[in-house]
Amino acid sequence: MVPAERRFFAALITGWGVAALLASQSVFIGAALALTVLLALGALLALGSARPELQWFGTVVSRSKHPNRIALTIDDGPDPATTPLFLEILAKHGAHATFFLLTDRAAKYPALVRQIADQGHEIGLHGLRHEAAIAWCSPREGARWLREGLQGLQDLGVDAVPWFRPPFGVVSPRTFLAAAEAALGVAWCSIRTGDGVAVDVLRFRKRALAARGGDVVLMHDGNATTIAELPSILTAWTSAGFEITGFDRAQEAD
Ligand SMILES: [Zn+2]
Repeated sequence: MVPAERRFFAALITGWGVAALLASQSVFIGAALALTVLLALGALLALGSARPELQWFGTVVSRSKHPNRIALTIDDGPDPATTPLFLEILAKHGAHATFFLLTDRAAKYPALVRQIADQGHEIGLHGLRHEAAIAWCSPREGARWLREGLQGLQDLGVDAVPWFRPPFGVVSPRTFLAAAEAALGVAWCSIRTGDGVAVDVLRFRKRALAARGGDVVLMHDGNATTIAELPSILTAWTSAGFEITGFDRAQEAD
C-alpha cells in the first residue's frame, strides 16, 4: 500500500469509528453514516483518478506558463493514416505540437517517429501500450513499464523524453510514484476536445476554438474528423495572435 492509500484507509476507518460510536446510540444513524463515509471517500477517489488536473494524488501540469502560447498535444499515435496529415497541416500553419506516442505503435512505424522529430515537434510518452494498468500495478512495476516505453522510443532515435501522459487520463497515487521513479513529469491538459471514439463535431470545434494562451489542448491521432477540422482551428488560433507550440516549449515563461 502506498502512503496516499494508507491515508485513504485511515480516513475510512476513522469515519467508520465515528459511525460505530453513533451506532451505539442509534443503529440506523450509525449504519447510514458508515455508508455515507464509504460512498463519499469512494466518490472522491474516483474523482481524483478521473480528473488529474485536481492534483489530489500528485503534481500534474495541465496548463502552460506562457501567456501567448497554446500547447497542442496529440495522443495515441503514430498512425499511418493521419500522422502525415497532421505534420503537413502543422507545417502549413507554422505550428508545432507534442505527440504523446505509444511505444508499441512507434515500433511499428519508425519512419513516422523520425518525421515527427525531424519536423521539430516534441515527443512525449503515452505508454508502452494503451492501457491504464499503471494506475493500479505496483509503483515498481509501473516504473518498469514506463522505462521500457522510454527505451523503445530511444531505440528509435528519440532524445530524452520529459513528459508522460497517462492513458485515458486516469491517475492514482501509484501513477505518480512510478513516474517519479522513471524521471517523468505527468502531463495533462486544460481542454479535452472530445475527439475520442465518437466525435461530436460541433462540440469538438467549440471546445478547440475556446483555447486561449496558457491552454493545453488534447487531440487524438487516428481521427479523420480531427484532421478535417484542424486547418480552420489553427487558422483561428494564429489569427488571434497565439503561437502554437509543443507542451514543453509552452512551459517556458517567455
Ligand atoms: Zn490515449
